[in-house]
Amino acid sequence: MVKSDYKRILLKVSGEALAGDQSYGISSGFLDKVAKQIVDLANRGVEIGIVIGGGNIFRGMAVAAKGGDRVIGDHMGMLGTVINALALGDAIRRNGGRSHVFSSVSMPSIADTFTQRGAIAAIEGGSVVICAGGTGNPFFTTDTAAALKAIELRCDVLLKGTKVDGVYSDDPATNPDAQRFEQISHDDVISRNLRVMDTAAFALARDNALPIIVYALDVKEGLVGVLEGEGKSTRIG
Ligand code: UDP
Repeated sequence: MVKSDYKRILLKVSGEALAGDQSYGISSGFLDKVAKQIVDLANRGVEIGIVIGGGNIFRGMAVAAKGGDRVIGDHMGMLGTVINALALGDAIRRNGGRSHVFSSVSMPSIADTFTQRGAIAAIEGGSVVICAGGTGNPFFTTDTAAALKAIELRCDVLLKGTKVDGVYSDDPATNPDAQRFEQISHDDVISRNLRVMDTAAFALARDNALPIIVYALDVKEGLVGVLEGEGKSTRIG
C-alpha cells in the first residue's frame, strides 16, 4: 500500500513524456518506463485515471500558425491523444496491469466513449482508466481535460509531471535565485502570476478545490515516492 491520503489520483501524462528524447512520436523505451511506474502504483492499491496529451504528435496551434483552420488542427490534435492512449493502454497491459481506454471524441470501434459512470465503474473494477480526446472540444488543452476528468472521476488529487521538480517563484532555468515552493495555495499561484497550467485548467481546479501536485517527470523516487512525499514536488491547495 502507498502511505498517502490519496486513494484515487488523476495523472496527466503529456505527449512530451512519451516522446522521450525524440522530438516527435512515441519512444518505446519511455512508454515502457511510464507504464511500469503506473502499474507499480496500481499494484499498491492506488486507483488511477490518466489524461493523455498529444503534443508529441500534433498541436492545433501549429496549424493555425500556418494559416490553417484551428478547429481542424485541434481535431487532429485530439486524434493524436487517441494514438497515445492506445499505446499506453497496451503498454500497461504488457507490464501486467489492467487498462481501459475511453475517448471523449466518439469512435466506438476503437475506444469506449467517455461517460462519467462508465469510467468510474472501470476504475472501481480495478482498471487504470485512460482518457483520450481531451475535453472533446477544440480550443482546449489536455491540461483542462485533466482538471475536468479529475473532478468528474472524484479523484483526490491531480498529478502533473513537468521538466522541473515543482512550482518556482521564477523560471529556475534563467534565474538561479528562483525559490521552489513545497506547498502553495491556488489563490497564491494566481496572485503571484505563477504558471502551472493554462488559465482554464487552473481556474477549474481552484473553483473545485482540487489539489495539484507538480513534480519532475524523471524524479528518482518515481510516482510512488512523489505520492508519499519523498520525491521533491510542490503541493497546491
Ligand atoms: N486538444 C483539443 N481539445 C482538448 C484537448 C486537446 O483540441 O480538449 C488538441 C489541441 O490541438 C492540442 C492537442 O490536442 O494542441 C494536444 O493536446 P495538448 O497540447 O494538451 O498535449 P500535451 O501538451 O499535453 O502533450
